[in-house]
This record gives sequence, C-alpha cells and structure tokens, in this order.
Amino acid sequence: MHKLTLKELSAQLQARKISATELATLFLDRIEASDLNAFLHVDRALTLAQAQAADARLAGNEAGPLTGIPIAHKDIFVTRNWRTTAGSRMLQDYVSPFDATVVEQFNAAGTVTLGKLNCDEFAMGSSNENSFYGPVKNPWDKTAIPGGSSGGSAAAVAARLAPAATATDTGGSIRQPASLCGVTGIKPTYGSVSRYGMIAFASSLDQGGPIAKTAEDCGLLLNAMTGFDERDSTSLQRPKEDFTRSLNQSLQGLRIGVPKEFFGAGLAADVEAAVRGALVEFEKLGATLVDISLPKTELSIPVYYVIAPAEASSNLSRFDGVRYGHRAADYKDLADMYKKSRAEGFGDEVKRRILVGSYVLSHGYYDAYYLQAQKIRRLIAQDFQSALAGPDRQCDVIMGPVSPTVAWDLGDKTDDPVANYLADIFTLSTSLAGLPGMSIPCGFGQGEKNGKRPVGLQIIGNYFDEARLLNVAHQFQQATDWHLREPA
Ligand code: GLN
Repeated sequence: MHKLTLKELSAQLQARKISATELATLFLDRIEASDLNAFLHVDRALTLAQAQAADARLAGNEAGPLTGIPIAHKDIFVTRNWRTTAGSRMLQDYVSPFDATVVEQFNAAGTVTLGKLNCDEFAMGSSNENSFYGPVKNPWDKTAIPGGSSGGSAAAVAARLAPAATATDTGGSIRQPASLCGVTGIKPTYGSVSRYGMIAFASSLDQGGPIAKTAEDCGLLLNAMTGFDERDSTSLQRPKEDFTRSLNQSLQGLRIGVPKEFFGAGLAADVEAAVRGALVEFEKLGATLVDISLPKTELSIPVYYVIAPAEASSNLSRFDGVRYGHRAADYKDLADMYKKSRAEGFGDEVKRRILVGSYVLSHGYYDAYYLQAQKIRRLIAQDFQSALAGPDRQCDVIMGPVSPTVAWDLGDKTDDPVANYLADIFTLSTSLAGLPGMSIPCGFGQGEKNGKRPVGLQIIGNYFDEARLLNVAHQFQQATDWHLREPA
C-alpha cells in the first residue's frame, strides 16, 4: 500500500478498500521504524483523530480526491497542534496559535497530517545539515545528504514514509532535495501558494509547493494548495485552475530549450549523462531540442546570496526573545537579553546570513550590493523572458540539471558555506525570476557508494505554466519508470 501513488491511494479510499485510519496507521508505523531523522514531531493521537474525521467524510460521501490521504508538512509551515520549529533551537517548543493557509487548505480537503518534517534551519541550506535537530539521511544511501532545505520532505516521500509532503523553495529547496532523493517536486510561480504561516526566510523568493512520487500527484496537491489569500500581500488573484487538466496532452512539437550555461564545466559527467538521456527520451516523445542561452546564470549565486540574506536579516529580527521563541536564562538588561537569546537560539548559518544581510543593507553599502543585486535580478528574469516569451520566443519549456552533482556525503561541505552555495547554481535563477520549476527523477549517478544516488531533471516554464510542466513531466513518467524506483 505504501508504494502506491496518491492518485491510487485516493481510488482505494473511495472504493473503501482501505480506511483513512488504516492508511494513517500504516504510515505512522513506517515512520516509527525509520532511522532517517526525517520527522521532527509525530503525534499518533492527533493523526488518528484526523483520520477518523476523514473516514466519516468518506462514509458520508462528502469526500474529495485528497480526503483521507496522509501528508506530512515541512516544519516551516505553522500548525496549531504539532510543534513548529523551522529546524531551529529558537523555536524548540513553539506551538502556533493558528494553522498556515496551506495547512488549512489541506485540512479542508480532508488530508491526514502525519507530522512535521525536518529541514535546514529557517530553510537556509542545501544539505539539511543546518537543522538544529541533526541532518536527515538520504534513503538511497544513508551516508549521503538528502539535499535541502526540504530534506525531510524529499526523504520521507522517497522512503515511502508519506505519499506526499509540503515543502518550500526560496532558491531550490523543493527541486534540489527532490532531485537528490529521486522524487518529484514542483515550485509554482511566485505568489501562487500563500505564504501566510510559512515562516519567512526571504519573502520575495519564498514559495510553497508539493513533493510526491509523480507529476500527477503534484498536480492534485497544487489544486489544493494554491489560491488567493488576502493575508499574504503578494498572493496572486487568479481564478482557480485544475493543474491536472493537460496531463495527457501529446508532446509532439514541444520545443525544449537547453541552456548552454546549464551544461558547463561545473556539471558532473554522471549527472550530465542522465540529463542528456532524458532529453533523448523527450525527442522520442515528439519534442525538439533548441540550444538557448541564459547568459546571466552565473550571476544568480552572488545576486541570491545578497538578496536572500538581506531579506532574512529583516525577517529574523522578530526573534528577539520577547514575544516568542527562545529566551536566554541569564541577562543583565534588555539589550543583553536580545543578544544572548539570539546568540543561543540561532545556528551558525543563520547568523552568517543575518550578518551578511545587515551589511548589504547598511548605509554606504546598500547601493553597492543590495541595489546592484536587484538590478541584476531583473536581468536574470529577462534572460528567461527572451527564451520563453514574446513573438521571438525560442522554446516552450527549459530543461537541464537541478544539481551539478548527485548527493554528496554527509559532512563533506559543512566547513565550507561557499561550496554549498555553489551547488545552487541551476536552481537560483528560476527563483529570482519567480518562475515555476520542477524536478523529476531521470536516472542515477555513476559510482555507487553505499547505494545508488539519484539524478533529477529540471523543467522550467514561463509564469503560470505549471499545467504544462506537469504535462511534460507526466508524459515522461508514462514512458519511463525512474519515478517508481525505490531505495533498498
Ligand atoms: N540552498 C539555498 C539557500 O541555502 C536555497 C534554500 C531554499 O530554497 N530554502 O538559501
């Protein structure tokens, strides 16, 4: 049962072949037996209460496609009943007085919450090693990182501890862990998913999205989690859409842009081989490959690592030990309390970003760093527009690798923050432009260590082209079985 897709589980529930309570129990047992450190907070009684409510809805024929489906939430989404830590000591015992909009939406659809998923502290990282609660292990090879920041989300789906999970992506945190764990994830267009109750990292970039086994499942999840929310000032006012509406469209005539900057020197040969193999598969499905250029790709690293820390330094100022979160036990006066509470509550990477962010926003440096970064951000977005939009557009979607390498060993880059930042090269530009992007499994790296290490294919589209991305991914998943492979 745990091997089934969300879509298949939904059919089982509707046909009463299994109850929501049985399904939740099955996954809770798997979570309990797992040693991946993917979950931070599980509460059987809370989960089973939701499952019973779902069973009542199913019995009363009030069920939708997600009613009774177990799901786990990244610990960056606040939840009223489960603790919410954002992977930080700062919020070790924090229980939110309200649910994030995304959580509310899933609750309304009747999903059953399995618990909260480990992540890098305040979603800052690419390896999940920045969590105060310890790293998550990659289910394919437990000596490897799962990717980050949504490492718990990707690992849980890969290990079949949950059929689906929520995640967030500020600079790649849905796509990169999905890629490194061999699962499917999509970051929708910025503004599609409400940020209300999603603990803020870099507000102009943060975007929620789903991780699941298949593109079809991701479409069903997006149907529930998107929509206008007046409590989020950047939420888009758009009519509700069905993201699964074009899954079965043929790819005949699809033009796939292949950016030369995504296949340069930094790309590992085994990743390139798997990605090129996927492109050949798309040609068999009727697509044509078009060479394109996204010349500002390289600048996305310095630009992102100015803008994201700048916004983070502002967002994280709310953690002052006064209103909520950690407060130091001993202090002399108010200023000392702020200092000690923040020094104790935040980890090294978070502090590094607060320092960098405060610096680039400070008088005298603002123009040189922050303003400059904002200007280049616009140019990065224009790169994509010249490829994907307008009368001279060159392609319908863009494809390339998600990560320059397969998952690296746990501990490998912990002393070198810049090495971590460089691994974000192929995901940051999409985030800076606010475009939708996804990752689907497309093979494995060469050089197996203690297990295979998956490779993901990135698919990027123009604004609001999620349904097309899912169509493209679904067609690939009908023709291949990478997405059905499971870790030992
Ligand atoms: N790896 C990037 C960072 O560390 C992106 C993280 C994210 O998308 N949340 O900021």
